[in-house]
Amino acid sequence: MDTLTLNAVTKSFGSTDVIKGVDLTVKDGEFCVFVGPSGCGKSTLLRMIAGLEDVSSGDVTIAGKRVNDLAPAKREIAMVFQSYALYPHLTVRDNMGLALKQAGVAKPEVDAAIAKAAGMLSLEALLGRRPAELSGGQRQRVAIGRAIVRRPKLFLFDEPLSNLDAALRVATRIEIARLHRELGATMIYVTHDQVEAMTLADRIVVLRAGKVEQVGAPMELYNNPANTFVAGFIGSPQ
Ligand code: ADP
Ligand code: MG
Repeated sequence: MDTLTLNAVTKSFGSTDVIKGVDLTVKDGEFCVFVGPSGCGKSTLLRMIAGLEDVSSGDVTIAGKRVNDLAPAKREIAMVFQSYALYPHLTVRDNMGLALKQAGVAKPEVDAAIAKAAGMLSLEALLGRRPAELSGGQRQRVAIGRAIVRRPKLFLFDEPLSNLDAALRVATRIEIARLHRELGATMIYVTHDQVEAMTLADRIVVLRAGKVEQVGAPMELYNNPANTFVAGFIGSPQ
């Protein structure tokens, strides 16, 4: 089964075409990485999948359902942002539980989901704190925990490690890879970092100026880049 299908998706802001016809299928359980230089449209594409931006044309299908007209909360996705996007006035526990609470899930079930996610991310001791009392790395773990609590069909990560220092970037990357295995979840992960792409991806989608340049497993792209742009980006010696 396919978790996500994009059919001829485009996006224009005014007269600027930012996404120029993207077709893509992401299979259940796949770890798919979007890479490409700054400004090529990675975030815009992810935000259209999330429902944070409307598509200009084309179709977005999640778990067999066309979601073009569905609000983000109805799409069975959870997104993790570079900026964490936690509510400053809420505790870690309440940040993690908010979406389920708003969806009308009963408190014992919300608490159980929070406890499970907190256990997976070693956040138990932090549940009563507010975001201002956490380090950047802890905040990002809370944001990831909040995504897990929602049990989405599709996790969307937009450069989640960019605000962390180098050591934390590696640790958090390894943690995300572990969560992908443990949850058996489908993930789309945006980065402009080749090392992240090569180490995390089942499949890499190379984007350039709003178009898909090449799609393939990391070693396929490394060994058989379609052109010098992909070769330069994936780092294969020419
Ligand atoms: P990336 O995430 O790959 O760095 P983005 O998707 O953020 O790229 O941006 C792609 C292009 O779309 C950029 O040229 C950016 O300036 C433009 N863009 C993104 N969002 C908007 C917006 N809301 N209004 C106008 N232009 C936008
Ligand atoms: Mg971006």
